[in-house]
Parts: sequence; structure tokens; C-alpha cells
Amino acid sequence: MAETGEPSIEGFRCADCGAVMIDQPMACRACTSRTPPQAFRVGERGRIVTWSTVLRSFPGVKTPFVSAIVDLDDGLTLKGTVRGVDPESMGVGLPVSLVFDDAGGARTPDGAPYVGFHFVKAGAAE
Ligand SMILES: [Zn+2]
Repeated sequence: MAETGEPSIEGFRCADCGAVMIDQPMACRACTSRTPPQAFRVGERGRIVTWSTVLRSFPGVKTPFVSAIVDLDDGLTLKGTVRGVDPESMGVGLPVSLVFDDAGGARTPDGAPYVGFHFVKAGAAE
């Protein structure tokens, strides 16, 4: 979050109907309210909606890995990699946690670090 310097994901919640969005639209997509949605820090818990085991990727990207769609408990849906998991143990509804990282050490052309994220099974070591 910007105030603490800790990485986080910001969502927006409609003050009138409670719909959750990843951006701040001019009007709520659910109820058309023009009251500006309120920003909130999205929680780091969620559940697997679906996943795929990726067997081939770009050169230098270690495979296999699991790519998944996750419904976060706060209402947003994200796509990301699930690390440290046996693809055979994946399942719909599996609880996972969002973990922030340094995007593999990647940096912008001017040297600033990127912030990335991935998922781990809930309760697993990061
Ligand atoms: Zn609304």
C-alpha cells in the first residue's frame, strides 16, 4: 500500500452496491452509481477457480508450472502462477495465499525494481 511502502493490490468498492472492481470507473458497472468507488487494500487469501499445467514456455522459463485463476476473498479475480505445488494436487476451491516478490529480479531500463506476485497453497511456506 502506498502509505506503508509494502506491496499490495488495491481494489475499489462501490459505496452504493458493494461491487468490487480492479480499477476506478466513472460509474459502477453493476449499479451505474456515479458515487466514486472507495479504494481498499485487497486481502491475500483466495481460492482456485481453475488452473492449467504449463509444459512449454519461453526459453529460460522453467516448466512445468501451474497457472491459475484465483477468486480472492475480497471479490477480485486474478491470474497468476501457483508456486511450490504438485500439479496433481491442484483442485477447484483449493485455498491459496497471494505472495509478493521481486519479479525474478527484473528491473526497468532505469534500474527500478519491479514488484510481482504469485500464489502458494494456504499455509505453505512462501
Ligand atoms: Zn454499484
